[in-house]
Amino acid sequence: MLRALDTERDRGVSAFEAAETSDDLDAAQVDVLGRKSPFSAIQKSLGSLDPEDRKRVGQAANDARSELQAALTARREALERLAEDALLHADRLDMSLPGRVPRVGSFHPLSIVEHELVEVFTSLGFKVAEGPEVEDDWHNFQALNIPPDHPARTMKDSLYVSVPGHPELLLRTETSAVQIRTMQAQPPPVFVVAPGRVYRRETSDPTHLPVFHQVEGLAVDEGITFADLKGTLEVVAKAMFGERRRIRLGPAFFPFVEPGCEVGVSCFRCDGVGCRVCGNGWIELLGAGMVHPAVLENCGYDSERSTGFAFGLGIERVALLRYEIPDIRMLVDGDVRLLEQFEGVA
Ligand SMILES: [Zn+2]
Repeated sequence: MLRALDTERDRGVSAFEAAETSDDLDAAQVDVLGRKSPFSAIQKSLGSLDPEDRKRVGQAANDARSELQAALTARREALERLAEDALLHADRLDMSLPGRVPRVGSFHPLSIVEHELVEVFTSLGFKVAEGPEVEDDWHNFQALNIPPDHPARTMKDSLYVSVPGHPELLLRTETSAVQIRTMQAQPPPVFVVAPGRVYRRETSDPTHLPVFHQVEGLAVDEGITFADLKGTLEVVAKAMFGERRRIRLGPAFFPFVEPGCEVGVSCFRCDGVGCRVCGNGWIELLGAGMVHPAVLENCGYDSERSTGFAFGLGIERVALLRYEIPDIRMLVDGDVRLLEQFEGVA
């Protein structure tokens, strides 16, 4: 019986230590110490022994039970600790894990150029003016000294809007109409730039879009001269393309200015030597001129007292040149491979 007790004690301790879960341990407890266990059978049979043996075996049985109880308790505590650790591990915050950086996106190259241009002009004292994209004939053409027989007015160039009762409405072909609206609304002096979307009846190709963007400017005050125009455009050219830029003016005709000029900027890539971007060293960038007296009079200004200059340039053209984008359509087809190159550019 003493041997049997030893065997049961060893078997029980091993079974408790081997338990991986508290369910395993419960089963082992029933198996080793339960009412139907070999151990219980030995204890029940103590009564059949003579007093001397009963005392010896009974003592050994008590020792074995204490040992088994201790092993059982130790394993139960160990399992509880393991379960707690596993829970803590699962709940743990890993402070070393790098955060997920959100994709910030970017400004569109056209927005970047527009913001920059507007910033240059506002730093010179110009205010930003905006106007409707659907214009009437008077603001878009007549007030700008574009007579009814001017080629720009034909269906070939302009997109008319079908609104019953308003046959003269069209999508503005220039943002110049904003200048007219500004002059109508206030007396001189006027210093405004009008950035915005304009529309032409064009088929898109590598250099044309039916919808594009302009920044037009207007300065009207007493004593404004062509020198003011030239100085302003030089500042803008330097701000946009670098301090070493020079400008050149050549004669050009626009109905709303007199005299009118086309403005070239010395090439920012080759510094005027000639390269594949510019060809001959100069980049034709914009049209400008002194506001035609008829335009001033159309807006109620006294053209004897006030003079002014106006200019307009295409935002797409500046973006194509500066970022060396080969096809204007790439600016509108939404290809992220182009757009993501501007991430972080403000
Ligand atoms: Zn060049």
